[in-house]
Amino acid sequence: MAELSFHTSIPFMGAPMDLSLITSAISGAQTAVELVKTAVSARDQAKAEEAVADTKKNLAIAYDSLLSVSQEAMKLVQQVMTEKEVSQTLREEVKRLTAEIEDRKRYVLTNIGGGVLAYAFKPTDGEADVAHYLCQPCMTKGHKSVLQPHGPRSNFKCHACNAVYLADQASYQIAARARGRGF
Ligand SMILES: [Zn+2]
Repeated sequence: MAELSFHTSIPFMGAPMDLSLITSAISGAQTAVELVKTAVSARDQAKAEEAVADTKKNLAIAYDSLLSVSQEAMKLVQQVMTEKEVSQTLREEVKRLTAEIEDRKRYVLTNIGGGVLAYAFKPTDGEADVAHYLCQPCMTKGHKSVLQPHGPRSNFKCHACNAVYLADQASYQIAARARGRGF
């Protein structure tokens, strides 16, 4: 019963289970059983039959209450499980967003030549990733797409949104030297 009374305190379920129903039904059945014992020891057939009928009635009420409480308990268990799943999903989402924010800090919006803007990788000490650019519109949509060399000149293409970036070769090299990262 300790487990049931724990679930009754859950606030999001609204009205708590009415355990007093089952308690009073059981107590009624116990009283009726006592009456049967008394009637039997007094050898009073009529009283004994009446008490047995009363016991049966009380047991039926107790059984109904028990059934209803069991069903409510099942509903509560299912609800608690759903709440746990939601909570787990939210925890994972927070973890994912935190990682995304941390990753976002590794990039800086840069003119990669000819006024073309892209997110340049900003390596920190010990960072193993090679220098690269990310597509700005894709990044805004939360998608990391590394720009790939495109065409005979040092132009770039985003293979996610198919945007082509015509970055001027000379400006591109100046920008790379200024960053000192060997772009
Ligand atoms: Zn893109």
